[in-house]
Amino acid sequence: MSVLSVRDLSVTYQTTGGGVPAVRGVTFDIDRGEVLGLAGESGCGKSTIGAAILRLHAAATKIEGTILLDGENVLEMKPGRLRAARWSGASIVFQGALHALNPVKRVGDQIVEAITTHQLAGDREAKVRAGALLEQVGLPPRRIDDYPHELSGGQKQRIMIAMALACNPSLVIADEPTTALDVIVQAQVLRLMRGLERELGLAMLFITHDLSVLLEVSDRLAIMYAGKIVEEGPAEQVFHHSRHPYTAALAAAFPEIGDIRFRHRPSGLGGDPPDPQDIPPGCSFHPRCPKAFEDCSSVEPHLYPAGDGRRAACLLIEGALASAKDGAR
Ligand code: SF4
Repeated sequence: MSVLSVRDLSVTYQTTGGGVPAVRGVTFDIDRGEVLGLAGESGCGKSTIGAAILRLHAAATKIEGTILLDGENVLEMKPGRLRAARWSGASIVFQGALHALNPVKRVGDQIVEAITTHQLAGDREAKVRAGALLEQVGLPPRRIDDYPHELSGGQKQRIMIAMALACNPSLVIADEPTTALDVIVQAQVLRLMRGLERELGLAMLFITHDLSVLLEVSDRLAIMYAGKIVEEGPAEQVFHHSRHPYTAALAAAFPEIGDIRFRHRPSGLGGDPPDPQDIPPGCSFHPRCPKAFEDCSSVEPHLYPAGDGRRAACLLIEGALASAKDGAR
């Protein structure tokens, strides 16, 4: 059984201007000891998926489909069960450690609180575990008494990773965990996360706009565009032998360090992603696609087998056009 099984997930934000479909029918699994990298430009829905798995969205947000975490549907959990599952079933590491840590509380106490809140241990035992967690993430246990301002950005992110591991979750969601770090620290934190995932046999969902980062840590990649997965498969295959033109554009476009604009539009890719309330008919990528042809503006592609374990939602895949036209009849 997979640690996480997501089936036909759709997430719609409710706004005064109407529903905004941010995720549209996404399906994937993550097994124990596996890292799935989720990539795409800003606004493609990848962080929305991460938040939906832990039901962190506002109550008005409409979430449809199934999210099985260790076989239990997160969308049907009662509040008490959901609170427990949020740390001991799945935890999340966000980008902004600076903002996620309480600035007036020692970091060790923050880890202890995560453990005792979930009644996994008393204060004394939890403090011993907090020290062990610091070692596990490459920090000397004496840093347990530090306040966040006494730590560097990379050290703070290591504290966030320690907190995410505090209750022995089976799934860790890492949402742009290294984006705010410089390139050397980023490499160290990526190595640490990959090492922990292997050592602890975790399932991991790693979310970032940066495909080159995902290649470092992921077993499989899923590429999102306009709320849907448009290509998925083994990381090396998807990155080096992309079958979807959008993946190829992402793979060819390396971000310039510190250039926030890359998050919104990778260099070399013209135009912008569509407004979620005004998704183009046919292939949603067709207005930007260098390989678009006539049928692309009217026939919607689904994910088709694309060789070597990949699947891609492109009408250029062998047999895809006929299959899509058949399905539309
Ligand atoms: Fe490009 Fe057409 Fe393939 Fe969409 S279906 S990615 S527009 S070639």
